[in-house]
Amino acid sequence: MTPRLGENNPNIVYTKYETPSAFRKAGAFLPRDLIKKEVYEYRLSPYMGCSKRCQYCFEPHNEFIRENEVKIKTNTVSVLKSNIPELDKTKAILLDGYDCETAEQKERIIRSSLKVIVQYGIPLLIQTKSDLVLRDLDLLEELNDSGVFVNVSFSLTSLNQDHARIFEPYTCSPLNRLKALKRISDVGIQTGIILMPVLPFISDSDEELDHLFSRSAENGCEYVIPEPLRVTSSGKQRDACFGVLKKHFPALVKRYEELYPARQFGPKFGSGPQDNAYLADLLKRIYEVSRRYSLPTVFPSIPKPRSERRETRSRRQCTLDSFL
Ligand code: SF4
Repeated sequence: MTPRLGENNPNIVYTKYETPSAFRKAGAFLPRDLIKKEVYEYRLSPYMGCSKRCQYCFEPHNEFIRENEVKIKTNTVSVLKSNIPELDKTKAILLDGYDCETAEQKERIIRSSLKVIVQYGIPLLIQTKSDLVLRDLDLLEELNDSGVFVNVSFSLTSLNQDHARIFEPYTCSPLNRLKALKRISDVGIQTGIILMPVLPFISDSDEELDHLFSRSAENGCEYVIPEPLRVTSSGKQRDACFGVLKKHFPALVKRYEELYPARQFGPKFGSGPQDNAYLADLLKRIYEVSRRYSLPTVFPSIPKPRSERRETRSRRQCTLDSFL
């Protein structure tokens, strides 16, 4: 049975352990624009794995967890504290884990980490699909009001509820994500959308893109960073993607096999669509819609006063290179 959007995933098994890897150097998963620009240097991850099990995601297939397992890193806060003397405070920490809502509501590791981040005035970047981030709005506001860079990006695939139910059934609904974005933006914190992944021939129509950009702009979003779906050339993430396509979009399977050819070996975190004509057309259409709503498609530089960010935002756009 298809779960209701936002309902708890009953299959998840939570285990606890201590690890020095709660605090790691920047790595994969985020749009490469953020990594290339060195917006953040370290990533604080209180949980390994994710309870949401989005069909296109790599995290549920992490080789260090068992099927349906989420590991809770109980020593996250002490690991964070011990690394603070080494931090370059011109760069943000990326804090993730709100998507493990059930665990976080109980353990409150993110909230405890945020208290440390506020205490030491560390620039902060959050990326999530969960409106649980609103629980900690008081701390985010305190950090932001003290003049430290704070940014919250919501990850969205589409505003189409049917697509969300199929591809990310356990996540907070896209509309609730936009509502949460607005509340955060309303207190003066920089917010944006990571439009990831754009699903070829499913969520990439002009109508869907226009709807998403227009609603994002209405709700205080300051940028939309697109990244097309990445699929591995073999393995579990590929099987999950093609499994959902065969079930819900069988007419697209052949086209996806062309865009994402099967191979024995390939990059660990997959490749984008192998069709430059498709990518160029997508880029052109995204550029047009981003101009229409004056929403840039790249991440703003940090730290920068809000007034300056708004003045320059329509000139900043992604390039075909950022999709490849
Ligand atoms: S919520 Fe994010 S990390 Fe979790 S499965 Fe979905 S895409 Fe992956």
